[in-house]
Amino acid sequence: MRYALVTGGSRGIGRAVSVKLASMGYHVLVNYLSNKAEAEQTIALIAQQGGSSESIQFDVAKQEQVEAALNSWGESNKDCFIEVLVNNAGIRKDMLMMWMENHHWQDVIDTNLNGFFYVTRLLLKNMLVKKYGRIINIVSLSGLKGLPGQVNYSAAKAAVIGATKALAQEIGKKNVTVNAVAPGFIKTDMTKDLNEEELKALIPLNRFGKPEEVAELVGFLASESASYITGEVISINGGLYT
Ligand code: NDP
Repeated sequence: MRYALVTGGSRGIGRAVSVKLASMGYHVLVNYLSNKAEAEQTIALIAQQGGSSESIQFDVAKQEQVEAALNSWGESNKDCFIEVLVNNAGIRKDMLMMWMENHHWQDVIDTNLNGFFYVTRLLLKNMLVKKYGRIINIVSLSGLKGLPGQVNYSAAKAAVIGATKALAQEIGKKNVTVNAVAPGFIKTDMTKDLNEEELKALIPLNRFGKPEEVAELVGFLASESASYITGEVISINGGLYT
């Protein structure tokens, strides 16, 4: 059995990625923060397709929770090696910087950036020992271009892009690849407050993307076929950013 962990696998892009990785033969650990019912829905979808998965609750922003949950999973699953990590859990708290309070800044940095650090550091050791691994970080167009109203989110995502490039160079020799996927507007709960009818005029492909379209790209980067790609940031945005 080969193992993959998807943070924030209960909904949206993380759910589609979990389903995709399961279809590739991975037993998927579907992480969630508080939405157990949605995580179970992801697991049911995977089971319907003949795949295998389990849920694992922890807050990626809390180091103690990350370590407790993953170490305890490791204890009960000795000899199991999580070889694919998709750092997908993310939140946005949009606000013009002038009005931004500490918690708007801190919460977004804690989840999107520190979450990447806590989870990746923990799983990295085994990948280095086994000399195989795929780390895929879900970033954003916002981290490449910067978007007004998202100074916190753009900063967090840009930081993960920098970390992706640095880590890829640190561990390439050990056959562990690290890449980032930068979506534009994707139809999920995160974007349900946005007006697609208005915004699609800005997008050359004239629509929001689907989580499954992002999952296809993540699946490729997670596969052995992507063995010579590392340190890259791959955009998936319908042509919005060039
Ligand atoms: P959703 O809001 O639909 O889902 C967010 C997921 O992250 C949920 O599974 C949620 O768990 C989980 N999550 C949130 N905070 C934490 C936490 N602290 N610890 C563990 N899990 C957490 O988001 P999307 O699917 O839209 O976004 C997924 C990723 O893609 C994010 O990193 C986002 O920034 C990025 N992205 C999204 C874009 C879009 O247009 N949708 C565009 C560009 C990037 P729970 O269900 O328990 O709440």
